Amino acid sequence: MQLSNKVKSVKPSSTIALTAKSAEYKAQGLDVVAFAAGEPDFDTPDHIKEAAILAINQGKTKYTPAAGTMDIRKAVCDKLEKDNGLKYLPEQIVVSNGAKQALVNAFLAIINEGDEVIIPGPFWLSYAEMVKIAGGVPVVINTRKEDSFVVDPKDIEDAITPKTKAIIFNTPSNPTGMIYTEEAIRAIADIAVKHDIFVISDEIYEKLIYVKDKKHVSIASLGPEIYDRTIVVNGVSKSFSMTGWRIGYTASNLTIAKLISSAQSHMTSGPCSISQAAAVAALTGPQDCVEEMRKAFEKRMEYIYERVNAMDGLSCLKPEGAFYLFVDVSGVYGKKYNGKPITSAAEFAAYLLEDKLVVAVPCADFAAPDYLRFSYAVSIDTIKKGMDRIEAFLGKLE
Ligand code: PMP
Ligand code: GLU
Repeated sequence: MQLSNKVKSVKPSSTIALTAKSAEYKAQGLDVVAFAAGEPDFDTPDHIKEAAILAINQGKTKYTPAAGTMDIRKAVCDKLEKDNGLKYLPEQIVVSNGAKQALVNAFLAIINEGDEVIIPGPFWLSYAEMVKIAGGVPVVINTRKEDSFVVDPKDIEDAITPKTKAIIFNTPSNPTGMIYTEEAIRAIADIAVKHDIFVISDEIYEKLIYVKDKKHVSIASLGPEIYDRTIVVNGVSKSFSMTGWRIGYTASNLTIAKLISSAQSHMTSGPCSISQAAAVAALTGPQDCVEEMRKAFEKRMEYIYERVNAMDGLSCLKPEGAFYLFVDVSGVYGKKYNGKPITSAAEFAAYLLEDKLVVAVPCADFAAPDYLRFSYAVSIDTIKKGMDRIEAFLGKLE
């Protein structure tokens, strides 16, 4: 029997697979050091958990409207106005099962079969597969290390065809850790308006910035024409250490919001009612927990950056945001592990795991085959242990 060609073309998520593998090794008692998932190691703050417990005790255990409760949509509107200078009505917000579903919804709402979506690479691996799920064609354009992996507007213009429907970008970026300046974002906005294409703006790491003179700018705030063409995607997973609660959202023009809400009403309905109540507490409650976690990530970033950059054959830019160190390993190509030459980041990662039980994410699926991604959303002790092992691994390469 013929199965769906569209779904067959979708690759499984290697970040999710590697994370599951690390957990499996740990369950077997192996002393694995995992830099795999981009998932904060902190517990969800207490006031957020208490709001969830209260919601259960108050019987808020029923279906909610498909787009989310009025409480959470209002909380999202207030957040977007306060943090990003964006004015939305609750009707323009759809709350979903994580930013992941919000992104898929965004693609489903705008893509017709064969429409192209421009994705500046290196990019978070799920974007390309999500575009395919929606029937679109991912068009990857490469950014350069010397441009801090920020897309060159000329490369966008060159990639635009009559089929181009949208561009997606992510700042601060997973996996590069770089931040787009307002000037770079304005250039994308100008192109989108000029060519009448949509922008999907993934802002999930907006609170995790480590450079004083760089602040997060939402592209939707740069004028009414780009506001109308942008679907802002955000959520609580990273800022509030709430990955398992599965709450993300889109903010868009009313027409798109209605399409997203309608599609979601058939696919999943509203996300978990208890998680929604918890996310309201996260968005409207004290924000010092966000800053405390950001500070902890910054310390870890400084440490892992120094350690990796001091290693022969490895190089990386200093991360400006998010919680990933994006490491060029091509400097070790040609060296041998147990007689086998290393020719790609994937091989480096496989040998490192075999020899030292250290998990890093090979970035071929992120359009960066010479790079490994290290998530430093783990404790300093874990980072130290992992770095010591990598140093020992490099020392034994011939
Ligand atoms: N966007 C980016 C860039 C991410 O790294 C992630 C992490 N999974 C997501 C979206 C999805 O986040 P969520 O856990 O809220 O689905
Ligand atoms: N976004 C995180 C990562 O890139 C979580 C795993 C995933 O959803 O891909 O590792």
